[in-house]
Amino acid sequence: EWEPPALDVSGVSHSYGQKKALDGVSFTIAPGRFTVLLGLNGAGKTTLFSLVSHLYDTREGSIRIFGNDIRHASGEALRRLGIVFQARTLDLDLSVGQNLAYHAALHGIGRGEAMARIRTLLGQIDMADRLHDKARSLSGGQMRRVEIVRALLHEPSLLLLDEATVGLDIRSRADILATIRALVEANGIGVLWATHLIDEVDDKDEVVILDKGRVLAAGPVAAIVRQTG
Ligand code: ATP
Repeated sequence: EWEPPALDVSGVSHSYGQKKALDGVSFTIAPGRFTVLLGLNGAGKTTLFSLVSHLYDTREGSIRIFGNDIRHASGEALRRLGIVFQARTLDLDLSVGQNLAYHAALHGIGRGEAMARIRTLLGQIDMADRLHDKARSLSGGQMRRVEIVRALLHEPSLLLLDEATVGLDIRSRADILATIRALVEANGIGVLWATHLIDEVDDKDEVVILDKGRVLAAGPVAAIVRQTG
């Protein structure tokens, strides 16, 4: 049975005034694959995320999430998507549980079901005991983990993370990446992991290399290493 790509980006361009941030970007992500979007600061990663998550209008080209066009079927598309933005987005004065329960309610998940998922996911990241703690009391790495749990609560099929390890020490960076890899494997979901750090790429990953708004190379790591020497 044919299944559409988890993400299909086709001929996407985006400008800020005269500045062209994305220039004819095309690539696809197969369902369930871990794909690294690799690019230096300014390559256009955040702009691409803003388009895929429908924060910006896609004026040139098209973006499909499991076949649903983000412009014409944005509700369907966004329901399949989980996203962790670069900026910190927890409400620091709410507890971990409240931050998560609020997101679950927005997605129409009933209270009992929401609490069950929250407990399971917090357990999977070793934070079950932090449910009632204020978000303010967490370390940067713990906040990121809670944001990741929040992005998974509505059971998305594709998870986007924008520089999820930025600002963390090297130990927390490795922990977060390992956590994500374990969580998505356990839950069978695809990932688009945006980073400027080449050491976050694993041999088994797919990679999309973005440079000055253009795709330089895309495909499995092994194929790209052969292409680019
Ligand atoms: P970073 O990791 O630093 O966010 P990035 O790869 O995500 O880098 P973008 O933030 O998408 O890159 O930026 C792509 C280009 O567009 C850069 O040259 C940037 O200066 C420019 N740009 C981004 N946002 C704006 C904006 N709001 N107005 C004008 N130019 C912008």
